[in-house]
Order: sequence, then C-alpha cells, then structure tokens
Amino acid sequence: MRCPVCNSIDVGKVETDQYYCWNCLHGFSLKGVDGFSAYYVDEEGALVSLSEMVQNSQLPQENIWG
Ligand SMILES: [Zn+2]
Repeated sequence: MRCPVCNSIDVGKVETDQYYCWNCLHGFSLKGVDGFSAYYVDEEGALVSLSEMVQNSQLPQENIWG
C-alpha cells in the first residue's frame, strides 16, 4: 500500500477503504482497482477534496472576486 499522492509507504488505514498518509498528511479513499480520491483535512477539521481544490484554482478571477 503506497500513498497515491507522494508514493510513501507510511500509510495507515483509518476506516474501510480509507487511508491516511503520515508523510504528506493527505487522506485518500480507494475507488475500484486503480482509482482513488484524495483529500486533506483543513484547519477546521473539514475534509477538502483535492479535485475540488483543482477546480477552484481554475476559476476565472472574476468569479473569485464576484
Ligand atoms: Zn502521501
């Protein structure tokens, strides 16, 4: 079992099909054989999906500033 984000083997299982990497401090859950969805825990303890972060960073500036 390796972290799909940083490829570290320092990964712990937290729930069924949910893992946490102690190296890069990302969590991830497995989806099927090769798929996964990675997230991190923000300062307030909320899970933030990495794919959501990518989408947010791609928003045009007009949308960010309203
Ligand atoms: Zn990692």
